[in-house]
Amino acid sequence: MKTIGMLGGMSWESTVSYYQAINKGIKSELGGLHSAKICMVSVDFAEIEKLQHQGKWHETGLLLADAAKSIEAGGADFLIICTNTMHKVVPDIEAEISIPLLHIADATAGKLIADGIKNVGLLGTRFTMEQGFYKRRLVDRFGINVIVPQPNAQTIIHNIIYDELCQGIIREESRARYLNIVNQLHEQGAEAVILGCTEIALLIQQGDTSVPLYDTTEIHAAQAVQLAISKGTEDLPG
Ligand code: GLU
Repeated sequence: MKTIGMLGGMSWESTVSYYQAINKGIKSELGGLHSAKICMVSVDFAEIEKLQHQGKWHETGLLLADAAKSIEAGGADFLIICTNTMHKVVPDIEAEISIPLLHIADATAGKLIADGIKNVGLLGTRFTMEQGFYKRRLVDRFGINVIVPQPNAQTIIHNIIYDELCQGIIREESRARYLNIVNQLHEQGAEAVILGCTEIALLIQQGDTSVPLYDTTEIHAAQAVQLAISKGTEDLPG
């Protein structure tokens, strides 16, 4: 079994989801007492969040590249970054490591394509919804059309992520607001909606709506499991 490198803590609430999903996935594949081989570095999200909102992305890249180097030195065979937003600095991280990176948007796109979804709604932080690093990858590499919420709805989604979900706060009222925005995206032509922030599944799940939801945490973790148990290196990205 390969060792999964996890760059976590963004936030730790969703790193818990990853850790559980990966270990459950390994157990269901291999049975018995099997559990995942993991090398993890978990950062202090307060430091990252401050730099994000100051627009100091280069500094976040330096911090995360350092963490990724420790993960590689710890024996990881490949890396997953346990947040959608911080995939913005993937080039800075990849420049400092030699192990491959399993990109969260690629994992998600693979599943969307397998399911024949061409038009998808995207929920995430404002950075993920507004900027090109995530949306453009889905469009350019996979030909998937991405629909994002209106600016006022983006603000609601963004604030609930930072003020509630990343702090472990789950509110019924916020669930209703999210579901309302999911419906709006569906009315705008989204066949499905990407939960493009690793904490969103703590708030809304498939049972809450008839619109198909693609939980990036679950998809990313499941792909990491498949890669970890694959025999050769041919499945490794890059
Ligand atoms: N975990 C979130 C995401 O998937 C947001 C936290 C962050 O900014 O990294 O984007």
